[in-house]
Amino acid sequence: GGRMFLVANWKMNMTRDRIETYLDALERERLSSMLSGTRHQIALAPTHVYLQDLSREVLRRGLPVKIFAQDVSSRSEGAFTGEVSVRNVLDVGAVGSILGHSERRRYFQETDADVARKTSLCLQAGAIPLVCFGESREERDAGETLRVLRHQVAPIVEVVTKAFRENENIPVYLAYEPVWAIGSGKNASCSDIEEVISTVLEGFSWPVPPCILYGGSVNLENISSLAALENLAGLLVGSAWLDPETFLDSVRALS
Ligand code: 13P
Repeated sequence: GGRMFLVANWKMNMTRDRIETYLDALERERLSSMLSGTRHQIALAPTHVYLQDLSREVLRRGLPVKIFAQDVSSRSEGAFTGEVSVRNVLDVGAVGSILGHSERRRYFQETDADVARKTSLCLQAGAIPLVCFGESREERDAGETLRVLRHQVAPIVEVVTKAFRENENIPVYLAYEPVWAIGSGKNASCSDIEEVISTVLEGFSWPVPPCILYGGSVNLENISSLAALENLAGLLVGSAWLDPETFLDSVRALS
């Protein structure tokens, strides 16, 4: 469709050098006006240690780019050694955070309840939650996809409903990221994505309809057909957008 939210999840990649090269490439495009002219909204998600520098650099260079964290703590503050709070990431220039990425659920045992808590903390603090959900290969093969997704999304609907009572302007972003599509080179089909989006939008009573992104092996070959999906609000991209030229070619392809 129309205006897309394009998010590069750098995961545990990138170094200061590579970030500088990336921003140089974006800055060149801004000067040639493609970036400032795009109707799409762009966000970069580095590891926590680069949030502050990246936010400052983006501001200094006047790039039309928002900064997201990749995760935040499920505790709000206090004696939790090694954790990073929502307030911390907002304080250094992030506007929101990816939450509940399948890599966090899988390798760090995050539960649906943890993800709901993080979502609630973000909404209370004025940070934009971008909540990932998606089924595994085994779940899809067993015909369990929609049941699993309902299970993951239901606790989010609950915290969004509570937060909405206090503030009707809360932004809610979700990302459908089927586990089998992440980093596999096999993206979900347009009809799979459409089915999931309508299940999530229509299967719950949302106080505000969430914006739903797709992630999982998005690349230059499939990006245009994915972006054409009517109800899709954006794309969350890993490996392809570690490279600034591929990122810029993608934005160009959607212009
Ligand atoms: P890939 O684009 O590398 O498949 O990763 C998707 C993803 O996990 C984004 O959060």
